[in-house]
Amino acid sequence: MSKQYDVVIVGAGPAGYVAAIRCAQLGLKVACVDKWIGAEDQPTLGGTCLNVGCIPSKALLESSARYDDISHSFADHGITASGIKLDLAKMMARKDKVVSDLTQGIVSLFKANGVKWLQGAGKLLPNQQVQVTAHGDGAESVLEATHVILAPGSSSVEIGAAPLKDDVIVDSSGALEFTEVPKRLGVIGAGVIGLELGSVWRRLGSEVILLEAQECFLAAADEQISKDALRQFKRQGLDIRLGARVVSCEAGKKGVAVQYQDGKGEHTESVDKIIVAVGRRPNTNGLAADEAGLLLDEWGFVHVDEQCRTNLPSVYAIGDAVRGPMLAHKGSEEGVMVAEVIAGQKAEMNYDTIPSVIYTHPEIAWAGVTEQALKAAGTEYNVGTFPFAASGRARAAGDSAGMVKVIADAKTDRVLGVHIIGAHGSELIAQAVIAMEMGASSEDLAMTVFAHPTLSESVHEAALAVDSRAIHIPGKKKIKNSVVADHLD
Ligand code: FAD
Ligand code: NAD
Repeated sequence: MSKQYDVVIVGAGPAGYVAAIRCAQLGLKVACVDKWIGAEDQPTLGGTCLNVGCIPSKALLESSARYDDISHSFADHGITASGIKLDLAKMMARKDKVVSDLTQGIVSLFKANGVKWLQGAGKLLPNQQVQVTAHGDGAESVLEATHVILAPGSSSVEIGAAPLKDDVIVDSSGALEFTEVPKRLGVIGAGVIGLELGSVWRRLGSEVILLEAQECFLAAADEQISKDALRQFKRQGLDIRLGARVVSCEAGKKGVAVQYQDGKGEHTESVDKIIVAVGRRPNTNGLAADEAGLLLDEWGFVHVDEQCRTNLPSVYAIGDAVRGPMLAHKGSEEGVMVAEVIAGQKAEMNYDTIPSVIYTHPEIAWAGVTEQALKAAGTEYNVGTFPFAASGRARAAGDSAGMVKVIADAKTDRVLGVHIIGAHGSELIAQAVIAMEMGASSEDLAMTVFAHPTLSESVHEAALAVDSRAIHIPGKKKIKNSVVADHLD
């Protein structure tokens, strides 16, 4: 019997919808099943990223940065503004409009590419069949496909010490919907979400306390960068408490009493609201019928190989539901790779150069390995750093905090990692990713001509600094197996 579809995809987040479009571009007949229900109880495409993740958080980060700038840093430019008012309802409505415009955009892309959108929950059955329970009437049907791609994404982790409660103890989605600025805001977890959403509400006027269980701040980032970040965030007023284990949260009429322990003992803080941001877990509960035999790992991620093949023939899994960083661009690239593998093309993905960005101010962005990882591995390397304080463009903008750090292999000079803390780090990191993807050396970057005056020149100077020849910083010294600019210590 011929199958109804070449490919059925479960999940229309950035992993699933990109896979669907690429499959369609390659001439495959595609259906994409998604169960997301958005505003006004309407099915919506785009998954976490567009509806409650990357996009709404960045819309609020942009709006709150403007409010913060006009309230605090315009005066340095000789601009005085008075009567500044925050219209939070309008800010939220703008964010919602950005989201709905973009999710509608995916509807149009599906139409243009001939992707069939099925609104409901999908469940993997044996032999590449997918059972669909339709949104609305709950009607059940079974789709037959030659290939299945599972892209169910992830959800916020909940903890017993802080059970979610209405709009008082919320996860990241709730934190994008506050109707007033909390006077005192507690955030459990000083990871990516805690820092981004904590920044949004601090800029809008909240006193923000972040309770982080680990003693180490931003352990995944390069240590030099995370130390600088901690200093800068504290200076902005983010009250980051490390080694703080939350014991309980009690919601009452006047907010929440948070009890936590740290090295100094037990403490209680009263806050108006709490955001719980302690990580995310894969949405794989009930994703496959037991008879399908889909293999999950001990944390519930779908087990896959390097090309995202599961243990079942012609069944693939991508995005947050499989190993690797939980990032939209990682899921999208896996979607493209799998579509091309299904179409018989030779496709692979380089996981070593996936960029990470934290959209705080300054932004933190990196790709490749950290200095501490190289030390632990015993790899010899050279380091060049360049501070934005020495960048003409950053100075002109009045936004010169942070630095660029380039790490190159001591023997081959190949760029192994680039770490940035500074304004527009999210954009600057792309040039490092391109260089690393092409196997560039720090000398290649050093020999490239960069426009003046740009922030990108700091990437150039950091590459020059690897060989102790940055132009716009004084004296360098050799330390152990690395080279750094003197005045950064
Ligand atoms: P998702 O986006 O979670 O999409 C999965 C989809 O599958 C959903 O629509 C879900 O309803 C659907 N689904 C699940 N199970 C089924 C089923 N059985 N049947 C039918 N449909 C199903 N990443 C970045 O790279 N940059 C950022 O700036 C960024 N900011 C973020 C901010 C926040 C507040 C959050 C929460 C996340 C952020 N992320 C960011 C992470 C990013 O959102 C995820 O990595 C990304 O959405 C994962 O894509 P995905 O397609 O794997 O899953
Ligand atoms: P995270 O892993 O970045 O941070 C969670 C933090 O919570 C960690 O520092 C952890 O030590 C801490 N923690 C865990 N349990 C705790 C507890 N009981 N008490 C106090 N602290 C505790 O996770 P997240 O911030 O929730 O983000 C989830 C995922 O979403 C991440 O994988 C991230 O990649 C993705 N995301 C990405 C972006 C971006 O790319 N800019 C933005 C938001 C989210």
